Amino acid sequence: MKECDLYKKEKNGVRCLACSNKCFIENGKTGICGVRKNIRGKLYLLVYGKVVSMNVDAIEKKPLYHFLPGTKSFSIGTVGCNFRCDWCQNFDISQVSKQGGIFGEDMTPEQIVEKAIKTGCKSISYTYNEPTIFIEFVKDVAKIAKKKGLKNVLVTNGYLSKENFNYICDYIDAMSIDLKSFKNEVYKKYCGGRLKPVLDTIKRAYKKGIWIEVTTLVIPKLNDSEKELEKISKFIASIDKNIPWHISRFFPAYKMLDRQITPIESLEKAYKIGKKYLKEIHIGNV
Ligand code: SF4
Ligand code: SF4
Repeated sequence: MKECDLYKKEKNGVRCLACSNKCFIENGKTGICGVRKNIRGKLYLLVYGKVVSMNVDAIEKKPLYHFLPGTKSFSIGTVGCNFRCDWCQNFDISQVSKQGGIFGEDMTPEQIVEKAIKTGCKSISYTYNEPTIFIEFVKDVAKIAKKKGLKNVLVTNGYLSKENFNYICDYIDAMSIDLKSFKNEVYKKYCGGRLKPVLDTIKRAYKKGIWIEVTTLVIPKLNDSEKELEKISKFIASIDKNIPWHISRFFPAYKMLDRQITPIESLEKAYKIGKKYLKEIHIGNV
C-alpha cells in the first residue's frame, strides 16, 4: 500500500484523479475500481506492488505488431479495473477488488525490472487488468525500466484522465488501446464508462508521439454493424491512417456467455471496411 499521487482533498472526502470516473471517495471507502481507498483523508493504492499475474509474453500478444516485433515483453497486472465489461476475459482479477479482494505477490519495482532483464525481455507491459488504476506503481517500475534501457507498454481501455496521462506519458513508449465501440450507450451499458475520454486518450497519445495500436473486439450484434465499424476506422484514420487497427474475435465470457462467437465473415467485413481508410489491419484471436 502506498499513498496515491493522483488525487485531491475535498470537503468530507477525496477526489481520485486517476481515471475519467473521478470518484469522490469518503473516509473508509474505495472508488469504483476497489483499489484506491480513502484512509483518514488520504488516498492509498491498495495494490501497490501486489502483482497477481506475471508472464513473459510475445509483444504481439498485447497486441502490438509494429513495436519491437519478435521480442518478449515482461507482463504484469494487479487486481481491479475501472470498467466492468460484460465480456471481460479476466473478470476473476478485474472485478474481484470490487468485493474487497485485494491480493497478489509483493514485489518491488526493482525486482520486476530485474526479472524482465533476466528473462531477456525488451519491455515491460502493464496489462491483464487496467493499469490506469495502479498508475503510481506503473510509474515507479517504468522509471527504473527506462534507466535500464527497457521500454514501457501500457495495455489500456483508454479511460485514464488527462491528469493521469500527463503524469505517466514521459515514461511510456507504446500503448495498446481498446476502442470497444463507437457508441456512448455501449460504453455506458456494458462497461460503466463513456466513449469520449477514450477517444481523447488516443488523440493525446498520438500527439505525444507514443506508439499506438488500437484494438476492437468485434462482438455480434453489439458493435459489428457496418456503420459502426466504418465510424471506428474513420476516426482512427482521422488521426493517422498508419495507426494499426486490430480486429479481434469474440468468444463468450463472463456475463456474455449466451452470445455467439464472432463469425469469420464479420471479421472479414470489418477488415474490408477498415482497408478503405487504414493501412494496417490485423485480425486476431482466430
Ligand atoms: S481510478 Fe478511477 S475508478 Fe478508481 S478510484 Fe480513481 S477515479 Fe475511481
Ligand atoms: S476494461 Fe478490460 S480488464 Fe477492465 S473489465 Fe473491461 S475487458 Fe476487463
